[in-house]
Amino acid sequence: MGDRRWLKVGIYIGTFCLATVVTIILATTYRMHFGPPRVIAAPTPAQTVEAASQTDSPATPSVEHGFVYTADLSNPSYTPSERIELADPSNYGERYTVDAYGQPLNQDYLAVLHETVWSANSAINTFQTYHPRDQDQVSYHTIIDRDGTVIYIVPPEKRAYGAGNSVFNGPNGPETATTNPAFASSVNNFAYHISLVTPSDGQDNAFSHSGYTDAQYKSLAWLIARTTIPEERITTHAAVDRSGSRQDPRSFNWAHFLEYLHQYPSRAA
Ligand SMILES: [Zn+2]
Repeated sequence: MGDRRWLKVGIYIGTFCLATVVTIILATTYRMHFGPPRVIAAPTPAQTVEAASQTDSPATPSVEHGFVYTADLSNPSYTPSERIELADPSNYGERYTVDAYGQPLNQDYLAVLHETVWSANSAINTFQTYHPRDQDQVSYHTIIDRDGTVIYIVPPEKRAYGAGNSVFNGPNGPETATTNPAFASSVNNFAYHISLVTPSDGQDNAFSHSGYTDAQYKSLAWLIARTTIPEERITTHAAVDRSGSRQDPRSFNWAHFLEYLHQYPSRAA
């Protein structure tokens, strides 16, 4: 009987070790695909959180649209906490290389700033909920929590549904893309959506609130400095919105943000 007991113990230990190894392999694979952005040097470029926006279309999706992070980590004095809260796949899609009418889409990337209105967890719950209806599908790429934690929701090479009817009026003139003829054109195809968590006194539709924390501005600068997106292509949802219903991020202090951004040598004013 003694031998059988040891055999059982051996099987238990063996099974436990195998399970541990499998878990490590799965976790590593997940992180490789959905983890925080790895540094790659290359030069190319209300109640709900947000209203619904553009979704899948007959246009041809492209995975190889080339969103890349630069290697500017030259400000080692600040490193935010990071974590991953991947959205449900119904809430994001591929970036397209041609629009719904077959015209090529080659806009440079655009950073669009938002605020969550409600808590980070509330936003994450919304994004992790399966949304079969186009009008319910919504997401940002990244959320910056009150303590500066950077939360990755949608991989940057994918198209997040952060803005509906929208146009960017920048140095190149009006930029927008129609990827689904059933919806108004939007900036989603070339946007990188970043949302700041709203303070508790801003959980309403008031015109302003007490603003964002110092850690949020630092983390936002850190995140932007890691991308290839130039300063003139950083904008807000309020600025690109054409629905007349968006005013976020309210109470955003551009001077404060730029002060931190310019501390990165590649972003010096
Ligand atoms: Zn917004």
